[in-house]
Amino acid sequence: MELYKTNQLKIYNSLSKTKEDFKPIVEGNVGMYVCGPTVYSNVHLGNVRTFMSFDLVFRYLKHLGYKVRYVRNITDAGHLENDADEGEDRIAKKARLEQIEPMEIVQRYTVDFHQTLQTINNLPPSIEPTATGHIVEQIEIIKDILEKGLAYEINGSVYFDVLKYNETEHYGILSGRNIEDSIHNTRELDGQSEKKNPQDFALWKKADERHIMRWPSPWGVGFPGWHLECTAMSTKYLGETFDIHGGGLDLKFPHHECEIAQSKVKNNVKPVNYWMHANMLILNGQKMAKSTGNYILPNEIFSGENTILSKAFTPSATRFFMLQAHYRSVLDFTGAGLEASERGFIKMMEAFNKLDSVATSQTSSLNISDWKQKCYDSLNDDFNSPILIANLFEAAKYVNLLVDKKETITQLDLNEFKTTIHSFVYDVLGLQNDLQSDSSEKIAGVVEMLIKMRNKARDNKNWALSDEIRDELASLGIQLKDGKDGTTFSVN
Ligand SMILES: [Zn+2]
Repeated sequence: MELYKTNQLKIYNSLSKTKEDFKPIVEGNVGMYVCGPTVYSNVHLGNVRTFMSFDLVFRYLKHLGYKVRYVRNITDAGHLENDADEGEDRIAKKARLEQIEPMEIVQRYTVDFHQTLQTINNLPPSIEPTATGHIVEQIEIIKDILEKGLAYEINGSVYFDVLKYNETEHYGILSGRNIEDSIHNTRELDGQSEKKNPQDFALWKKADERHIMRWPSPWGVGFPGWHLECTAMSTKYLGETFDIHGGGLDLKFPHHECEIAQSKVKNNVKPVNYWMHANMLILNGQKMAKSTGNYILPNEIFSGENTILSKAFTPSATRFFMLQAHYRSVLDFTGAGLEASERGFIKMMEAFNKLDSVATSQTSSLNISDWKQKCYDSLNDDFNSPILIANLFEAAKYVNLLVDKKETITQLDLNEFKTTIHSFVYDVLGLQNDLQSDSSEKIAGVVEMLIKMRNKARDNKNWALSDEIRDELASLGIQLKDGKDGTTFSVN
């Protein structure tokens, strides 16, 4: 039986601002759309966190037995420099500056995006459509919205009429904004803009001569507005109403608000049942910005080539650190935080690596089914990964006590325990055993060598040297234990 039948998942819906029981439209199937990157620069660490949050959602839904269609787009045209529909297309600008084709920019940064997400062990989505591959679909939606009178054409551009939409619908339903407030707070149009109202947004923009990315349309040569591609691609691949729509918190307004308005006019149904937003990442307590130098690229974390952190961290240690925060909390990315997290991760994985050497007994001193249920309960509660990790730490502690024969476990329980740990660590959290196993092995070799030297000292009745080796190791957190079968050690 599929796990979802016995695990009621709750999702915090940004639209209702409450945790709701998750009920997919079609039993056993989930349609999920996540706004992807605009590929004009290396993937931002904050974006990595967002996509990792939805990777956890994707992995857990699959683990529960759902058939998931996960659509995540690539924005390769139409995203202007600012959200007020002004400025140049970000990709076209970069292409102009570097004097190469826009599609070379798209290719370069799409490859970087894929490589980075693969390094950090995110699963690829089921479909990864591009904005430029869906121009026809976008033009069809614009035609429909124009026919319904909710958009207007002016000088070869088409704008969505937000004020008219707001007469019968609530523009701001997701972000909690009221259009009335923004009318009072927005400065007068400076006469440069051709929009009827500053709140209106572009569905199609006329391309001027310097604009290299351009397509023919009923309104002349131009390119689609940024918000439109997500409506076109999500409804094409997931239907007019689908289960989950995700993205970074910064996309809630205006991007997702515009998506809701477009879909509502086009299809006259609620487009999304559960809106999920991943919170942002800050670096050393400050907003990340290239201009201030408070900035780091994901690959610079893994290589150690940066001025922010004192050492390199593996992709799994970085992933583990990020998963120790709930996706709806702000995450402060700091060297100290990463180091603490890495230590915890190493301890946990070292304990789990010892699972195969655990001896079994007639009884179990830990209730394995209760512990297992706690793991599921944590993720069923809006994907609470920090609580899941706390439960895994509890398991690691138990493994160490089992190895020391201070706790007991039956063979049946041990099998279930191992399977559960494996599922959560590797399949659901997507962690890998990529820790400096090399250096761990080397440390083990060095300690074994010191144990031999200590044994020689003891054979020679050189108690002072023997004690010195033991105490020096202890001061480094390495405990020696003398037993009848010889000396063993543990690392704290
Ligand atoms: Zn989007």
